Amino acid sequence: METSSIYTGKVFEMARQQFEIVADHLDIPDHERTRILMPKRALAVSCPIHRDDGSVVVYQGYRVQHHLTLGPTKGGTRFASSVDVGEVAALAVWMSWKCALAGLPYGGAKGGIAVDPRALSRRELEALSRRYMQEMIPFVGPHTDVMAPDMGTNEQVMAWFMDTYSMYQGRTVSEVVTGKPVGTGGTAGRREATGRGVAYLVGRAAETIGLRVSGSTAIIQGFGNVGSVAALTLEAAGAKIIGVSDHSAAYFDKNGLNVSALDAHVAKTGSLAGYSTESLFDAESLLVQPCDILIPAAVERVVTKKNASDLKCRILAEGANGPTTPEADAILRERPEIFVIPDILCNAGGVIVSYFEWVQGLQQLFWDEDEVNDRLNRTLERSFQAVSRIAKQRSLSTRDAALSIGVEVVRNAKATRGLFP
Ligand code: NAD
Repeated sequence: METSSIYTGKVFEMARQQFEIVADHLDIPDHERTRILMPKRALAVSCPIHRDDGSVVVYQGYRVQHHLTLGPTKGGTRFASSVDVGEVAALAVWMSWKCALAGLPYGGAKGGIAVDPRALSRRELEALSRRYMQEMIPFVGPHTDVMAPDMGTNEQVMAWFMDTYSMYQGRTVSEVVTGKPVGTGGTAGRREATGRGVAYLVGRAAETIGLRVSGSTAIIQGFGNVGSVAALTLEAAGAKIIGVSDHSAAYFDKNGLNVSALDAHVAKTGSLAGYSTESLFDAESLLVQPCDILIPAAVERVVTKKNASDLKCRILAEGANGPTTPEADAILRERPEIFVIPDILCNAGGVIVSYFEWVQGLQQLFWDEDEVNDRLNRTLERSFQAVSRIAKQRSLSTRDAALSIGVEVVRNAKATRGLFP
């Protein structure tokens, strides 16, 4: 498939390569491929804000909507230095396959600002969040494109987004954003949903390969929303968390780390740095330490052709989006002793509960946390079973099976709706 476009870079290439592998497998003709893969539309914005020292700085922001065939688009907003339009587009494409696999009535979207949020004061972060949402107003809406948190954003940022959008509409429009605080239209269980979903699927993969979670060992890269909740949930299920890392530090202790103490340290200081000197470890070699469960829950492209043969885990649970490169995937296809829970399945808990938040917001009828968790697990269970069945029937890796299901859903919807005009 030959297309020249604004979507370039390693992360978009990854999304394209994964799609091509699955499109070959599904025998999708060339003329259909571009229509399915390439994003429908994108917006780039310049967001000027006053820094605390009085200077004016302009940050670049983006939002990409992959397809609108099944309903509004849905996807997170990332604040990170690495953000560019190619990365955002790849994340939007992955969101489409993820929503389709989970049976949600959404296309994928993603947005972001090229900024290190840790370098901003709270006032600056609020100004930037509000300015970004203000620039997005013509492009998003509860029935057009619904935002959510991602790396570098959180419930507070979602509350500022929702407030900004609502101020311009002259009424509260809580459904324009999910992942809001529970006190301002959020749903119980959304903040924890992605990490809980990771832990649920780790449990199902463990059952499949005959591993007991209780007494197993886990290593987790990334100790933010996804990584910390996955760590706490697995620890509660009896797993020993022997390694964790974030952008600032890595720790390893084969007797098990104290996850609650790590969590409290991050809540107080903002990162893992300074937690302890005893268990400090090299971040890169953390991924190849022997463990039962390895969870990358931070950035893309960390399992690569350099380390894929050296992984010593039994389950690779992809909490992050795009943590495994296609070259590493080729190596992992030859390592059936590792059960891969691919990202579009593994971290789908976030968007599933975002969907619950959206429908509750539209109806102004709220469920309790047990109901949310129960519906989350049932949705993940259906996806897990579908992926396992297709992988077996078609002799595919779990990633190719999951992507096949997602791509087929989108392809069939486009075929049924036809081509306008
Ligand atoms: P977050 O901002 O809450 O946490 C990110 C964590 O990753 C932090 O601990 C940060 O220090 C760490 N990190 C950043 N760069 C790192 C590096 N180079 N090495 C090690 N650690 C590093 O973000 P999050 O919401 O937990 O998202 C993490 C991943 O999960 C992202 O890939 C995101 O797209 C994906 N994801 C998040 C959600 C969600 O609901 N938040 C849903 C689906 C997928």
